[in-house]
Amino acid sequence: MQLREATPEERLQFYKEEWNKRDLPDFILHTLSLREFGFDLDGTGPSHRYNQFMTVEQLADFLRNKAPYAAYASVALYEQPSMRKGWLKSELVFDVDAKDLPLKSCSCVGGAVCEQCLNEARQVAIQFAETMRSDLDLHNINFVFSGRGFHIRVTDESVMAFEQAERAQLVEYITGCVIPTDVTITLGYSRVFRGRVARTFERLDEQRLLQVHGMRNALAQQLVKERERVLTAIRAGRLSDLENYNGMGPKTFRNLLEFFIRLNSEFTDGKVTIDTKRILRLPSSLHSGVSMKCMLVRDMERFSIEEAAPKFVRERMQ
Ligand SMILES: [Zn+2]
Repeated sequence: MQLREATPEERLQFYKEEWNKRDLPDFILHTLSLREFGFDLDGTGPSHRYNQFMTVEQLADFLRNKAPYAAYASVALYEQPSMRKGWLKSELVFDVDAKDLPLKSCSCVGGAVCEQCLNEARQVAIQFAETMRSDLDLHNINFVFSGRGFHIRVTDESVMAFEQAERAQLVEYITGCVIPTDVTITLGYSRVFRGRVARTFERLDEQRLLQVHGMRNALAQQLVKERERVLTAIRAGRLSDLENYNGMGPKTFRNLLEFFIRLNSEFTDGKVTIDTKRILRLPSSLHSGVSMKCMLVRDMERFSIEEAAPKFVRERMQ
């Protein structure tokens, strides 16, 4: 499927003929008047901020009349959204963008995405959500296809009141981007960390491993050749075995760990999670940059991006 920019006429066609308020997720519909809406009207950036809609009909009128290049709504609920005042609470969100994945098997560069890296982003989002369910007891987890990746939007009351510092800790926990301490080991973090490191190591080739400071050619070759053995050790909690692996030594081992941590942290944009006043692309709206619908995904396991193709794209393909 070719992902190209939508024309103003196509945007208009989408909002006049296809946009439907039923495509707004309940978690937005039920709190619509408490959210700040932002728009990029012409493709120059989301500068039209501080909008409030008291009813879904008002929002519908706006979208049909303006056919914006992009539409966003705040993750926060406010007493006065049109002034961004009276913060009440915010969803907990994770942004997994295919274009920013640190490891991918396709050859996309720059801002490009393809079905392959979108699929890889989907897998990462599923894994993050699993950790949230099993370790953090979160259950109101919504997935949104953003057009270039996936948003995880959590609406459990237990996390919506979280401040920035608590959200930052959740990013570290879920992505596995800090080395476990004695305290976090007892909380189960060590297991999450090992799992994330294993998934990262699984995808590393020799060339990437050579970016680790002090990594010798022969050692990188050996690590790749014995990948399964190394993975087993990591998953079993014997990560420190690597220190003695073929003469790696403590220094290179430390560098390797730091390399893993940096890559782990790059699977999501932590700044998005921490920012309680962020606006996120509105599910049901059009991502005009790639001509895809931003949409709620009910079944992540089976989701295919063809479901997100608007009518004008499907017509083009016939
Ligand atoms: Zn790609």
